[in-house]
Amino acid sequence: MKTADAIVIGGGIVGAATGYYLARQGLKVVLLEAEYLCAGSTGRCIGGVRQQFGTTTTIRVAMESVRLFSTMEEELGTRVEWYQGGYLFLAHSESRKSEYLKVIRLQKEVGLDVDFISPDRVRNIVPPLNLEGVLGAAYCSSDGQANPFLVVKAYADHIRALRGEVVLRTPVTQLKTSDSRVKSAVTLNGEEYTAPIIVNATGPYARNLGNMVNLELNCLPERHEALVTERSEPLFDPMIVDYRPDGCYFIQVKDTGQFIGCYTPDPRVDGTRIDNSIEFIKEMPRRMLRLIPSLKEVKVLRQWAGSYTMTPDGSPIVGPTPLEGFYVAVGMSGHGFMLGPALGRLLAEWIVSGKPSIPLDEFSFGREFKTGETLK
Ligand SMILES: Cc1cc2nc3c(=O)[nH]c(=O)nc-3n(C[C@H](O)[C@H](O)[C@H](O)COP(=O)(O)OP(=O)(O)OC[C@H]3O[C@@H](n4cnc5c(N)ncnc54)[C@H](O)[C@@H]3O)c2cc1C
Repeated sequence: MKTADAIVIGGGIVGAATGYYLARQGLKVVLLEAEYLCAGSTGRCIGGVRQQFGTTTTIRVAMESVRLFSTMEEELGTRVEWYQGGYLFLAHSESRKSEYLKVIRLQKEVGLDVDFISPDRVRNIVPPLNLEGVLGAAYCSSDGQANPFLVVKAYADHIRALRGEVVLRTPVTQLKTSDSRVKSAVTLNGEEYTAPIIVNATGPYARNLGNMVNLELNCLPERHEALVTERSEPLFDPMIVDYRPDGCYFIQVKDTGQFIGCYTPDPRVDGTRIDNSIEFIKEMPRRMLRLIPSLKEVKVLRQWAGSYTMTPDGSPIVGPTPLEGFYVAVGMSGHGFMLGPALGRLLAEWIVSGKPSIPLDEFSFGREFKTGETLK
């Protein structure tokens, strides 16, 4: 039997960030990962970090994440390829434009520097963009990108340096309870880790962990595919988001010059399967070319798939549960990488001091899942 102050299950961005901030608060942390760091959704994401959301809590959390990304290289002492090139949400219809104008009002109230910009300004920011039908765009220049592998590795290195353990290739197969409290995590190889605090940060597998302690978690994974191209000369800075039903989102990675992107499939593909489809590899380049015709000569190098873990209202589930000592940070949809650093910090505060410095009621386990995040 091994003991710790806190066990974090899952070595993606959410588990790594939570483990790091708990360790920084002086707790002895054990992070248990079934495979290797970034084996789940985090290693399959496209690294975008934005603050343009549709609910007060998410905007505040995302702004806090951007603050943390901005100081991360100094704090963690290593490069994470953080670059603030902005996010540009294109409006191709009056209804989309009004939706953006509405959320921009809320975002500004919360303190975000964001604007709806004219097609001329859009052209200045992304010169090769096909402006046909573009009525303008929601633009926030302090949004950005970072490298998920480097961020998670940096957090894990610091957990170890702060007298914690990061245990890889060690799936948790059982959670034990005692007197209505969580007590320990048992792994596939039969080892038992005991701690008064256990955090479920298992991404697409969150429900399995919940089931181990008879807690129903209201989140389900669905497959999302992505591709990356060969490198190209620098063409533009922001993540381009085209929310039309046959739209897509992509960004040029600052450090490599490669384009990386994805789209939301219709119909949705439920479950944890992460196989690739021919449809995506034919369709995604077509959608990218419609927006940036000059990408015609740039070759696709690779495609892959991963999971978005969706909740009914599009916001994550973060915080304590009815089982004492058992916390969750799950249901990250397509935003776990960008929200991860702040959620990790806030959850650690919650665990250690009983209250997060940004209220997270909107993300609570027991909420009704009625209001919705519009910018999913
Ligand atoms: C194509 C694509 C593009 C995306 N783009 C972006 C983006 O630009 N920006 C953004 O913010 N988000 C993006 N996302 C979403 C983002 O990847 C996720 O929200 C985020 O990575 C979730 O992180 P996590 O730590 O919760 O889960 P994960 O990264 O999935 O980590 C969970 C970990 O738990 C481990 N695990 C599971 N079960 C057990 C067990 N029983 N015992 C021990 N370990 C276990 C898994 O092996 C896994 O490593 C994208 C996702 C996809 C698929």
